[in-house]
Amino acid sequence: MKIIRAEHLGMCFGVKDAIALARETAKHRPLTVLGDLVHNESVLADLRAQGIRLVQQAADVRTRTMMVTAHGASDRTIGQARDRGLNVLEATCPLVQVAHRSLTRLVREGFHPVIIGKRDHVEVRGLTGDLDAFDVVLGEEDVATLCGRRRFGIIAQTTQPIDRVRQLVRLVRERFPQSEVRFIDTVCQPTKQRQHAAVELAQKCDVVVVIGGAHSNNTQELVKTCARFCGRVYHVQTAAGLREEWFDPADTVGVTAGTSTPDEVITEVERAIFDLAHRGAGIPLETIGGSIQN
Ligand code: SF4
Repeated sequence: MKIIRAEHLGMCFGVKDAIALARETAKHRPLTVLGDLVHNESVLADLRAQGIRLVQQAADVRTRTMMVTAHGASDRTIGQARDRGLNVLEATCPLVQVAHRSLTRLVREGFHPVIIGKRDHVEVRGLTGDLDAFDVVLGEEDVATLCGRRRFGIIAQTTQPIDRVRQLVRLVRERFPQSEVRFIDTVCQPTKQRQHAAVELAQKCDVVVVIGGAHSNNTQELVKTCARFCGRVYHVQTAAGLREEWFDPADTVGVTAGTSTPDEVITEVERAIFDLAHRGAGIPLETIGGSIQN
């Protein structure tokens, strides 16, 4: 068996920095994190063990300090928390801030804002939270329901696949040929790199295992991308989710992971895949560069 890692995979700098800030802050004062800091249960359990509280609603914050995750929040949400006397710590990823600034600029210049993304995702809620009028689109059917506007200003949730984003922008332009459509590409570089690497990986593997949280948007997108190029794609959160029948010792197995997946979970899954495929065969594990082979 050959196990190959995608060239780009796993936790991005935005999530790593947010976790580091939460850990460091919690050493000095009680901390509550608003929203999903990371879509990974083992990391969340570790944070809870350090006394960090995790809540979904600002109304549930009982500590003096509240942290906003890498996904960001609207000015309204942050302002309301400050009005309640909370000390707000912002771990918003700089690339999410780019999306906020791009949207603000489009609205200021008179464009009707359209966000390509998931309506109920925390990042999209943060982006739209200060807007009076906006549209969120994720598929062709959503573009079909848009009302005509003189000017459309489009941005994307940072973790959307860039191919789909470009296709939806094209559809808006086709549907409203008389309108001015301005698109600012706010898909983040780590997402683009992981998507691109996933395509390359899926094209050369018999099986692809995607590691990441069940609710992680970018993990779900990696699964969809790999499934376009490989017939055997499996999504697991940890090594415990793997099944022996998925693998054959002769397979080339690709491994990729969403931006919430810690390095140690990736290594654990790789070793478990190898063990499952060679159960009872007594074949020693040899690691060569970024890949594991026998
Ligand atoms: S996925 Fe992209 S935008 Fe989101 S935290 Fe990571 S680097 Fe930042």
